[in-house]
This record gives sequence, structure tokens and C-alpha cells, in this order.
Amino acid sequence: MSSEVFELILQGKIPAQKVFENEFVFAFKDIHPLANIHILFIHKQKTKDLQEMMTTHPEQIQQIMMAIAHYAREMGLDKSGYRIVSNVGAQAGQSVFYTHIHLLAGEVLGGFGRVKI
Ligand code: 5GP
Repeated sequence: MSSEVFELILQGKIPAQKVFENEFVFAFKDIHPLANIHILFIHKQKTKDLQEMMTTHPEQIQQIMMAIAHYAREMGLDKSGYRIVSNVGAQAGQSVFYTHIHLLAGEVLGGFGRVKI
């Protein structure tokens, strides 16, 4: 899958269940949730993965991480626990080449490694 699907979500051309938005970041529910809570955080300025973001928009990595931490606190997930994951490259399981961070929570999470997130 290209980056297009997330660009279209950001433009409001594909519907998504938005849970959070600020000047920098847009967050919405994953269409195929792998946990009771599965949110995708994307940065509004497009990059393909964290490696590219580190090169072209390094300071904005902080914005996306701050948004996740704020959202987690708002939802009480800082107390119950949560996991954040970003797949970089096809071998790691990345299927949408638009930088995003998965937030998984809401239940006891299994291990990972060979498990695709
Ligand atoms: P990746 O595999 O690149 O790490 O994560 C991409 C995620 O995007 C997957 O978990 C997939 O379920 C989700 N996804 C793909 N297309 C859509 C869509 O149209 N809407 C939403 N909400 N999520 C999507």
C-alpha cells in the first residue's frame, strides 16, 4: 500500500475515526485493530518512515511523541499501560509508507517479534 491512504484520510477524503488532532499530528482508529485500543498517530507533514522523518523533520518527532503521551494520559493509559510501535520498512511489516506510530492498549498485550503489528 502506498502512502496515499493516509494522505486521503488527512484530507478528509477517506473517512476515519479521529480521536485526536493538533497543529502537527492527526490520530485515528486503525481499521483492523490488533488490540481493544489501536490508534495510529501520523504527522501532518508527510514523510515515509521514521528514518526519513529523522533526516527531514527531526524536531517534529518530538511533536508526535508528545501528542501520544498527552493522549495516553487523557485516556488514563499511562496508568493501565500501552505500547507504541512504528514499523520501518516492509521487512518490519510496514504496509503504509507514511510515517505512523501505532498505539496499542486496552488489554494485556502479547509478546512481539515474529508477530505482525
Ligand atoms: P503498518 O502495517 O504500515 O505498520 O500499519 C498500517 C496500518 O494502517 C495497519 O494497521 C492498517 O490496518 C491501517 N490501515 C490501512 N488502511 C487503513 C484505512 O483506510 N483506514 C484506517 N483507519 N486504517 C488503515
